[in-house]
Amino acid sequence: MKRALIHVDYTYDFVAEDGKLTCGKPGQEIEHHVLAITKQFVEAGDFVAFTIDRHEENDIYHPETQLFPAHNIAGTVGRQLYGQLESYYQSIKEKANVYYVDKTRYSAFVGTDLEVKLRERSIEEIHIIGVCTDICVLHTAIDAYNKGFDIVVHKKAVASFNQQGHDWALGHFESALGARVV
Ligand code: ZN
Repeated sequence: MKRALIHVDYTYDFVAEDGKLTCGKPGQEIEHHVLAITKQFVEAGDFVAFTIDRHEENDIYHPETQLFPAHNIAGTVGRQLYGQLESYYQSIKEKANVYYVDKTRYSAFVGTDLEVKLRERSIEEIHIIGVCTDICVLHTAIDAYNKGFDIVVHKKAVASFNQQGHDWALGHFESALGARVV
């Protein structure tokens, strides 16, 4: 079965100590796993999509403006990938199997061409890593489920600022989305 790795929002604003909407320690502690899994997929030649939140400043039409502090604003360092992932990404971004997706909603499938890219490549199984487990990772997994993809969530490479939400989502992936949580 062909597989792909979907990266969700592992950026400065979501992970760094002074990020605008940070997961803090739990997010920072998964850096090693996020990097190792990414390298594994890139080197195996699997499709790897970096699906990264992109917002405009003071966007009055965006529902998140009411819900969260401004984050991942276009053109700011907040949108850069966190830690060693940024320099690794810079070294692999030209590869044919590496793809970058600007997303504006929780789910990486909403308003993007991610599904088209996966279908073109006959990919049936998607592996998800990143943050936050109970928001963008969750919504991406739900859409993947509804679209008929098999789902694998790497529990050592997802995190949230909300530990309860994180634990709940890991259970939900298995019990309601039929995902493998590995
Ligand atoms: Zn956002």
